[in-house]
Amino acid sequence: MKLILLGPPGAGKGTQAQRLVADFGYAQLSTGDMLRAAIAAGSEMGNKVKDIMERGDLVSDDIVVGIISERVEAPDCAKGFILDGFPRNGAQAEALDKMLDEKGMKLDVVVSLEVVEKDLFARIEQRAKETEGGPRADDNVDALKKRLEIYHEQTAPLIKYYGDQGVLKTVDGMAEIDAVSAEIKNILSEV
Ligand code: AMP
Repeated sequence: MKLILLGPPGAGKGTQAQRLVADFGYAQLSTGDMLRAAIAAGSEMGNKVKDIMERGDLVSDDIVVGIISERVEAPDCAKGFILDGFPRNGAQAEALDKMLDEKGMKLDVVVSLEVVEKDLFARIEQRAKETEGGPRADDNVDALKKRLEIYHEQTAPLIKYYGDQGVLKTVDGMAEIDAVSAEIKNILSEV
């Protein structure tokens, strides 16, 4: 199973991905997590993306396409993978199509988590309180505004992109976490 979880910051992509990992053994490929790990490790890539991430901008397509391209072939992806936070714009979506095609892989489904935007600020505030080791550098009002702006400009058009490919399914992301999980599992059982 190869799927994308699509949705704005705070929609619940990470939470739902973790459940699919636990229940089905798929790998969660979160570009945000990988970039944060690179920053924590002080790697060259981490140093390059730190300021960009902190203010809520997107890092370059080359970087994220490169890390995803390496990850999809790792052994932990054998049962499948969940793309969480990637792709985030048209160029990344096209690069993903090309990459999967070259590797003889195919995307099964794109699940779009639909949320009420004004409620995302409260969710992110909650996440900032609950995150082990302290809040993320970009979980604050200014960075979230920026991330939402970018989501609308660059990521939301992917809903149409995948709709046109016939692989898009939508889920009510404002429902209870368990209900959202159940809905996603239902979708996966039908693809
Ligand atoms: P996330 O954890 O998915 O909310 O991502 C946190 C931050 O990492 C984003 O605001 C971007 O700065 C960066 N990032 C994560 N994924 C991508 C991506 N696919 N393309 C560009 N930047 C990304």
